[in-house]
Amino acid sequence: MIIDCHGHYTTSPRQHEGWRGEQIEAHKAGKPPPPRPTITDDEIRETIAGGQLRMQRERGTDLTIFSPRAAGMGHHLGDATTSEAWAGACNELIYRVCSLFPKNFVGVAMLPQSARVSPRNCLPEIDRCVNEYGFVGVNLNPDPSGGHWQDPPLSDRYWYRVYEKMAEYDIPAMIHVSAACNPVYHTTGSHYLNGDTVGFNQLMTSSVFKDFPTIKFIIPHGGGAVPYHWGRFRGLAQDAKLGLLSDLVLKNIFFDTCVYHLPGQELLAKVIPADNILFASEMIGAVRGVDPETGYHYDDTKRYIDQLPLSAEDQAKIFEGNARRVYGRLSRTIEKQSATAV
Ligand SMILES: [Zn+2]
Repeated sequence: MIIDCHGHYTTSPRQHEGWRGEQIEAHKAGKPPPPRPTITDDEIRETIAGGQLRMQRERGTDLTIFSPRAAGMGHHLGDATTSEAWAGACNELIYRVCSLFPKNFVGVAMLPQSARVSPRNCLPEIDRCVNEYGFVGVNLNPDPSGGHWQDPPLSDRYWYRVYEKMAEYDIPAMIHVSAACNPVYHTTGSHYLNGDTVGFNQLMTSSVFKDFPTIKFIIPHGGGAVPYHWGRFRGLAQDAKLGLLSDLVLKNIFFDTCVYHLPGQELLAKVIPADNILFASEMIGAVRGVDPETGYHYDDTKRYIDQLPLSAEDQAKIFEGNARRVYGRLSRTIEKQSATAV
């Protein structure tokens, strides 16, 4: 089985994102939001069948760990109440996708975060998504301010209520920022990669893994700048007398393969042990075009992994085994959802 651990519902029915615009406008005007629009099963089927499902089939992957559109989380917009309603609506839609295509999609939750609002607010949504929807992980935004970095670092006890839930449910978090509202950042060009790098650096210098020995984080987009600068991080750990970087992080931190060229994948596989790499493409997402150098989509990342000089055992770990290990509830959920498939 080939499991893509990083996909977002970027093709959701138009009225879903339309409602979000109305919700934020109503909030600005001090009015209640309009009622949620009706979205039929057929509308959802249509957006998936011609999009992510078609690409799974064309590219030869089987299952996508699926979450709401990341840039659309918009934690910097509105307030805690609007974030709660929006996260609830987005997660419900993911649950409906997973129910309609139970063999192809397993859910991951976005959280109702807001800048400078305690992440304690996220706990009821985590409970709901795990217990009612069968979701297997969460996306945790280290910067709900959208590029202004107004919240404490991930090393701070500020985040510990979320970490307690992650440990309790055995669900990992993907460290994933949302859209940038600071014009110095391009959302997917720099803010995402910066969020990945910042998140890793905050966690590696923290006590989080001592306090939560079983907790797991995925650093997406190939780990941002981390694998390329592994020597810098090793040296920083050494200078700070933290011990070996590999001992510090490799039981708890994992990297996905959303890297859009072969040399980048070669570097990732050379630097990071196969046990810590999870296959992912983030399709349909940040980069949608075709690479004129190869004639294939940049985000068709399976093609790069296929070209790496990996043993069959390591390739199986990257494509499937690691995802089943890192997402502790995944295997049970796959079995359960498959049993409901028509
Ligand atoms: Zn993403």
